[in-house]
Amino acid sequence: MKLAMIGFGQAGGKIVDRFLDYDDRTDSGIVRAAIAVNSAKADLMGLERIPQDNRVLIGQARVKGHGVGADNELGAEIAEEDIDEVQNAIDSIPTHEVDAFLIVAGMGGGTGSGGAPVLAKHLKRIYTIPVYGLGVLPGTDEGGIYTLNAARSFQTFVREVDNLLVFDNDSWRQTGESVEGGYDQINEEIVRRFGILFGAGEVTGGQDVAESVVDSSEIINTLSGGGVSTVGFASEGVELNSGGGLLSRFTTDDRSGDDLDAANTTNRITSLVRKAALGRLTLPCEIEGTERALLVLSGPSEYLNRKGIERGRKWLEEETGSMEVRGGDFPRGEPEVAAAILLSGVTNVPRIKRLQQVAIEAQDNIDDIQSESQDNLEELVEDDEDELEPLF
Ligand code: GDP
Repeated sequence: MKLAMIGFGQAGGKIVDRFLDYDDRTDSGIVRAAIAVNSAKADLMGLERIPQDNRVLIGQARVKGHGVGADNELGAEIAEEDIDEVQNAIDSIPTHEVDAFLIVAGMGGGTGSGGAPVLAKHLKRIYTIPVYGLGVLPGTDEGGIYTLNAARSFQTFVREVDNLLVFDNDSWRQTGESVEGGYDQINEEIVRRFGILFGAGEVTGGQDVAESVVDSSEIINTLSGGGVSTVGFASEGVELNSGGGLLSRFTTDDRSGDDLDAANTTNRITSLVRKAALGRLTLPCEIEGTERALLVLSGPSEYLNRKGIERGRKWLEEETGSMEVRGGDFPRGEPEVAAAILLSGVTNVPRIKRLQQVAIEAQDNIDDIQSESQDNLEELVEDDEDELEPLF
């Protein structure tokens, strides 16, 4: 599936940058165009792969290239004011060759948090192709204002896109990591998961043709109907045979037990599907009640079979209770078999409910502190007996 990716804000830009890198490394061909939008000049300059001409600085008149400092209302305002500049960059990409837009943003900050929903609304008015969002939730340790920003952005972003794919930084942070090092790993996880999913519909020449191909219309159908999506993933290393065929029976290393008979292949696939659905999701949630799902099995073609995918699909139908579970394979020359599962239209998400609670508390606290500090300042400035007069 070919996407026009727009990274809004710092996290958004960095993740789209990383998608370009992934595209190069894996030859997956999913990024047809990449644009970065930011109100902070330094963040745009820090990007590596997005072409210079596709980096759009907005809000110069208001914030002079210095960013909005986690003020997402200001982020939304400047996005509205400078939407024509973003549109100019989009005008330069061949949108007729694109299957969908993907707007990527961290929802806890300012520029992306406020600007991404504004851009989604704008694009939906103009184009007929779907507009998806990839929204990143902040870690719970980032503090009240980030949580409040994310909760408000989430509400708005879901409403404006055709589907919001969510990635929760909190589920993926690792203790003892520097923030930057941590983000590096997290961003790699993001591009790998979404890369396999979106790459499935984009089999290029030279790759084996899949037995039951996932094409972009199946991804679009799974995402249609809107709402919130999460992605599960599991993989297992396998041996690549340089000849491209089955491993030789005479292989004598210790993996020779890993013979490729059909039963093994099927079992490997079904257990990967279970691990992917029951393991760590990009947004943790209860999978029961999921409206639609798509299962993509990737790996060397000799490790994929229709029976395994069918079994995995059936199991997913039972677990989710959904009647709309699509599935297919995605042959790739990587030495691993991987199951990526898109769960679309999830509604039982305790993480979002907690985020909203903390956001409301933060909002109340901010209001209290603001009114208190007004009183405290007056008490400080005014003399007790009111004997002094200000100059004017
Ligand atoms: P903006 O530039 O004002 O849109 O704000 P940022 O994108 O810098 O930050 C918004 C939120 O995104 C932060 O609160 C973090 O949770 C998250 N974030 C920042 N950088 C990254 C990154 O590289 N990767 C990921 N996954 N999240 C990030």
